[in-house]
Amino acid sequence: MSEILVVGSLAYDSIKTPSGSAPRALGGSANYFSLAASLFSKVRVVGVVGDDYSSTDRELLQKRGVDLSGMIVQPGKTFHWEGAYEGDMNEAITLKTELNVFETFDPVLPAHYKDSKFVFLANISPDLQGKVLDQCEKPLLVGMDTMNFWISSKLDDLKKTLKRVDIALINEGEAMMLTGAGNAIEAAPRVCELGPKALVIKRGEYGFVLYTKDEGFFILPAFPITKVIDPTGAGDTFAGAFFGYLASLGRAPTTADLKQACVRGTVVASFTIQDFSVKALADVTPAKVEDRYKSYRQVVHLA
Ligand code: AMP
Repeated sequence: MSEILVVGSLAYDSIKTPSGSAPRALGGSANYFSLAASLFSKVRVVGVVGDDYSSTDRELLQKRGVDLSGMIVQPGKTFHWEGAYEGDMNEAITLKTELNVFETFDPVLPAHYKDSKFVFLANISPDLQGKVLDQCEKPLLVGMDTMNFWISSKLDDLKKTLKRVDIALINEGEAMMLTGAGNAIEAAPRVCELGPKALVIKRGEYGFVLYTKDEGFFILPAFPITKVIDPTGAGDTFAGAFFGYLASLGRAPTTADLKQACVRGTVVASFTIQDFSVKALADVTPAKVEDRYKSYRQVVHLA
């Protein structure tokens, strides 16, 4: 098993969905990612929080064995994102993004993080993603995520980061926005032209599209869930389980490994959407993942 280094947002989210609302609940790409990845592998976090960040929220990751020596506390407020879902549960409407302590964050990796073999640049400003990657010595696999906010505000930096990664995981709307393509199938090879050898396009309730330069497309549905309470963090959870699974193998992944990793991502993300914030994800265990993995195999079985 290899260790994963993740840099991303550690946030408080204020969310409204047709099922209700959750003001200032724990969120952020690095929190969802780490909770999911730690079901499979050891995780090291790089990020910044404000002095309003609660010790209970920190303990949630510590209980999963996540290394928080790269989590810095800075005077000021934690990153805050306000979002809503209306009708289309696959697409969040951003109402407010308050970068707060992220505005002045300059990541410095603790010495023992630098040899991390698996590096994931979760959704965060692309220049910070680049600064973290600069400090990694010899990663075996580098992945990244991003979102519309950065595609519209920091496209040049984002393109520089894309050139340096092996695999990108982004959602369908962002893949189209980034390439100007009309759908995921058209977008996938175009994203790979920007750098990555492989791409996962997350499509919410419709599942995912995996595209590799070598073997083309692999497409599966999501795990069927009757009631989606809050889809926030589903993508980050997918990425966490995906990377966690790959790091547990401890080798440069084959395309077959990437397919298996996508299925782990799909399965673990299906828990996240069943409650607000990280509530459902925090209760997931490897045994629950295994059970749902077996059910998912039946959903997609063809014989
Ligand atoms: P997802 O639903 O998986 O795409 O991710 C939702 C998470 O992304 C939320 O918990 C937010 O805190 C976080 N987030 C929203 N906007 C940004 C942003 N501009 N940069 C970094 N993280 C963000």
